[in-house]
Amino acid sequence: MDNYVIKTENLTKKYHGQIAVDNINLHVPKGKIYALLGRNGAGKTTTMKMLLNLLRPSAGKVILFGEKDSGFGKRNYHRIGSMIEAPAFYENLTAKENLEILARLRGRHRQDTIENALFVVNLDWKSKKLFREYSLGMKQRLGLAAAIMHEPELLILDEPMNGLDPIGICETRKYLLQLCREKGTTILISSHVLNEIEQLADVIGVIHKGALLEETNLQELYRHRRNYAEFEVSEVNKAALILERMFSISDYAIMGGNKIRLYEKIDKRAAINSSFVKEGIAVEKVSVSAGKLEEYFTELVGGEGIG
Ligand code: ATP
Repeated sequence: MDNYVIKTENLTKKYHGQIAVDNINLHVPKGKIYALLGRNGAGKTTTMKMLLNLLRPSAGKVILFGEKDSGFGKRNYHRIGSMIEAPAFYENLTAKENLEILARLRGRHRQDTIENALFVVNLDWKSKKLFREYSLGMKQRLGLAAAIMHEPELLILDEPMNGLDPIGICETRKYLLQLCREKGTTILISSHVLNEIEQLADVIGVIHKGALLEETNLQELYRHRRNYAEFEVSEVNKAALILERMFSISDYAIMGGNKIRLYEKIDKRAAINSSFVKEGIAVEKVSVSAGKLEEYFTELVGGEGIG
């Protein structure tokens, strides 16, 4: 058996003849956080639903927990926790009551699991508040509690940070990292918030218009990418001389369109800018490279950002 908790082989979904997921081969390694990144409508939710057997693929195969143990049989329910789209619960029950029903359905229920799960997501297990009175963020927290309360080996979370406030986002991120690092939980998470994923994922898969464009280890990606500052100036050669002579910068590159990129002393860009101007160079624009992941994503999907 290889070390992938999720593998797919040419997984495909068509809705009314229209392709939504196109021959996807996913490889989600055991004990890692894998982020499925894509713009709205890219096919993330459809893919996750097929992994969970909530949707039947038009073609291809899902392999969970290794070849021999493939398929999403009943025996695997307790090994998986998931949150797909807006979590659905009974409107007229409290958080604790809703989780009790779920726990009974799953058939594995320790007395303290519900309280622990609610504690982790910062919801009061004694609260009498009904689900219908919950805010969007509270609903999302309860969805997460339902996904984690049975301590699954695999978590599949569709945009779990949606609707959470900044503190909730930070807490959830810390908790997911802890689950993965300390308990070895494998986590597949979808998102279109790049800086969130930058702080969380080990591996990313970029999905665009239904196709999986690339799977990459985030550390590897960073090793090959460097930050830079870019000046758009009236005279690039003169600007290069100033960089060398006045700032002792040798790690720069002259780009097309009167742009010059420097890879060192980026923090000196204000001083560099005023020196250019003093020497009679018009500076049209100064920019610092966007997040590395954002650049990577934009290049991959052909210039379209993720927003
Ligand atoms: P978002 O980030 O907006 O949730 P997503 O990446 O999860 O997007 P999906 O919801 O998987 O994308 O949608 C992929 C494509 O499939 C879209 O073009 C969408 O319109 C289409 N689609 C999704 N569900 C259905 C459905 N039930 N019937 C028909 N088309 C659908």
